[in-house]
Amino acid sequence: CQSSSVPVAAAMPAQTGPLALNFNENSLGLPASSMKALQQALPGAFRYPDAARTELMQSLASHYGVQTNQLIYGNGSSEILKMSLDAMAADGAQLVMPDPTFGVIEDYALARGMKVVKVPVTAGLQTDIAGMKAAVAAHPGKSVVYLCNPNNPTGLLLPGAELSQWLGQGSDKLEFIIDEAYAEYVQDADFVSALAQVKAGNPHIAVARTFSKIYALAGLRVGYGIAQASMLERMAAQASIDNANIAGCVAAKAALEDSSWVELSIKSNQQSLQLVMETLAALGLEALPCNANFIFHKVNGDTSVYQKRMQEAGILVGRSFNHTNGWNRLSLGRPDEMVTFCKTLIRFRQQGWV
Ligand code: PLP
Repeated sequence: CQSSSVPVAAAMPAQTGPLALNFNENSLGLPASSMKALQQALPGAFRYPDAARTELMQSLASHYGVQTNQLIYGNGSSEILKMSLDAMAADGAQLVMPDPTFGVIEDYALARGMKVVKVPVTAGLQTDIAGMKAAVAAHPGKSVVYLCNPNNPTGLLLPGAELSQWLGQGSDKLEFIIDEAYAEYVQDADFVSALAQVKAGNPHIAVARTFSKIYALAGLRVGYGIAQASMLERMAAQASIDNANIAGCVAAKAALEDSSWVELSIKSNQQSLQLVMETLAALGLEALPCNANFIFHKVNGDTSVYQKRMQEAGILVGRSFNHTNGWNRLSLGRPDEMVTFCKTLIRFRQQGWV
C-alpha cells in the first residue's frame, strides 16, 4: 500500500473524529464553486427558496435534456424514494426489492402497511431479477419494484438488456422506482440508466438521483426525481410544500455547472480504488467490481467483529447487510485516507484477523 498524491481538494475538511469510510460520502469536501455560491446566497436566505429551486431545476433540465415538468426536487433522494412510493402505492399493492440493498424504502412501505417482498441476491451477490419477477407474478395486485443501480452495498450493475426489457413491461399494475444515487461514478460502459426509458416516454418509472454522493453535498439535502410529466404530477402531490432550501439549491447548481468537479472526484475515487484493490489482492481478499465510491470485499471472518475492530482502530467501515456475512462495504475516501485504511488492514492480517 503505497502513498499517493491527493488531488486538489476544494475545501478539504479537517478530520476531527474517526476516519469515516461508512456512509459513501465524497471525502473531497464541498466543491469550491458550491462554497462560493453558498456564501453569496446566505444573506438572501430569509426569502422562500422558490427562485433558487427554479434555477436549479432549469439547470438540471438542460443538463439532462428534459423538460422542467419531468423533474422534481427532493429533500435528498430519500424523499424522492418516499414520494415515488406514495405516488405508486394502491390498495393491495406490494413492494418488491432486492436484499441487501439501500433499505430505507422498506421502512416507508411498512409505515403505510404495505406488504414488502425482499428477494435475496444470487450466490454471486447479483440482484436476482428472475426472483423479483417471480414475486411480481405471484401477487394478484399491483407491484411497485425498487431497484438500485449500481446496487448499494454490492456496487454491482444491473444487467442492462434484462433491465430495459422489464422496465418496458411497466403498466398500471407494475411500476418501477430506480435509484441511481451513484450513477456518476460508474465507469463500466455496459451501464444502462433508466433515464433512457423515461426519455423514450415510459410513464411507469421514477428515477431518483442525488447531490449527496459525487457532488459532495450530503448535508445540504438535495435530491431530484426524473420521470414522465404524468408520473411527476403524481409524485408532486405527495411532496411537502417548500421542501427545498436556498443553500442546497445554489450549492447544487454551482456543483452541477462546475465541469471539473465530477472529473476530479472520479480521478480521486479511481486512485483510492486502485490503492485498496492492490492491497486486497495482495492479501487474497476477494472484492466485487466497483462501480461506485465504495467496495464490497471479503474480510475472512464475521463482518461485525471486523467492523468493531476497525472502529477500535479509529476507522468506521460500515454496517452489516443481510445475506452477506463475511463481506464488508468500504466507502472510498481520499487516497491519503485509504493509505491509512490499507495499513490498518495489513496490520489486521499480521494479527490473524482477516
Ligand atoms: N440511495 C442510495 C442507493 C444511497 O446509498 C443513499 C445514501 O446512502 C441514498 C439513496 C440517500 O441519499 P440522499 O437522501 O442523501 O440523497
